[in-house]
Amino acid sequence: MQFRRFFQNYLIIVEDHSNDLEASQRVLVANIFGLIGYSIGFIMSLVAFLREDWLLGIILLASSSVLFIIHLFLRSKKIANSYTYTAILFTSAQMLVMLYLVHTGGVNGTGPLWIYLVPPVTLFFGGIRNGIRNLGMFVLVLSLLLFYPNDALLQTSYTFEFKSRLLYSFLTVSCLFWLYEYIRQNSFQQLQELNQQLEKQAKHDALSGLLNRRGIGEELQKEFERSQRYKNALTLMMCDIDYFKKVNDQYGHDMGDTVIKKVAEIFESVLRKQDSLARWGGEEYLFLLPETKGNQGMQLAEKLRSKIENTQFTYKDKSFSITISIGLHQLTSTDTINQAITLADSQLFKAKEQGRNRCILSS
Ligand code: GH3
Ligand code: MG
Ligand code: MG
Repeated sequence: MQFRRFFQNYLIIVEDHSNDLEASQRVLVANIFGLIGYSIGFIMSLVAFLREDWLLGIILLASSSVLFIIHLFLRSKKIANSYTYTAILFTSAQMLVMLYLVHTGGVNGTGPLWIYLVPPVTLFFGGIRNGIRNLGMFVLVLSLLLFYPNDALLQTSYTFEFKSRLLYSFLTVSCLFWLYEYIRQNSFQQLQELNQQLEKQAKHDALSGLLNRRGIGEELQKEFERSQRYKNALTLMMCDIDYFKKVNDQYGHDMGDTVIKKVAEIFESVLRKQDSLARWGGEEYLFLLPETKGNQGMQLAEKLRSKIENTQFTYKDKSFSITISIGLHQLTSTDTINQAITLADSQLFKAKEQGRNRCILSS
């Protein structure tokens, strides 16, 4: 358990990137690459020292130290864009080591075996476009090293067959990783889009497109806290269409739906940017009006009421109009959200009782 926690702490730096899944995954993979990279580099450098291959040992030790420093760098929360710098350092450090291994042949000519690490690491860190460019440059330098006349750039010698097959297989592996990274990025993007879509659906009403109860719940909480902290006015309006049952009975349910949508459109066209509007129930709408006093809310409510009253709906060749009733409440310092909604609702009830087509503000 302890070990697992240590490992998680070590590899995942969540706080920094928690708002971006892709970024936090990249940091995780970067840390895993780093861990594997500097452990293997360190072990290989010890092996090289034991073999008394001092230069290889020093280079491997240096490169594993670079990886370790990069890891520390990624953990540092002070450095903005630490990931970008890390990616550049990581990619170039490993490319240089690989080219050095090809140049010298490593241990008994096995050095080139390691170059297959380059495509996944480069494409992962650089992304598709930068990754391909960086891989292209690597292939150019690699080809130059391998095929320069008379092996002038090599400290060792490889057969022509070995060199050409090394290049072909390297290109094949690069293409496969490119394809893999391409598919991975695409699926990730699709997943994120789908996620956003679902989140939007969960907070909105399908018929009117307005926020639903859940959607406005978050806004209510936010504005409620803000109004308490800054002592700003906050007014709630509960609105209900009068005798809506008649619309359904006389013109059918579809026409009823059309009316609900049209009313929502009219409301939205009048509201300010900072106001929120939700479909609270069947033909009930809840308005959240930040920085608005009760009497200012009343002016808006009256405007909406008269606008709806003067809107003509047509069904086949008949035309009809509807009215709305609105209850308003300006939040006091002791109100909770639920109490405020109930108070707006009871003003709406009064408006209905007093004959409908009117707006009433709590006293
Ligand atoms: P009041 O003036 O007292 O509000 O009378 P009302 O007829 O508007 O109120 P009531 O609550 O009796 O009826 C509301 C009706 O709204 C009943 C319900 O069938 C209808 N309704 C609720 N949701 C929808 C909807 O999404 N589409 C349609 N077409 N009708 C709906
Ligand atoms: Mg009604
Ligand atoms: Mg109702």
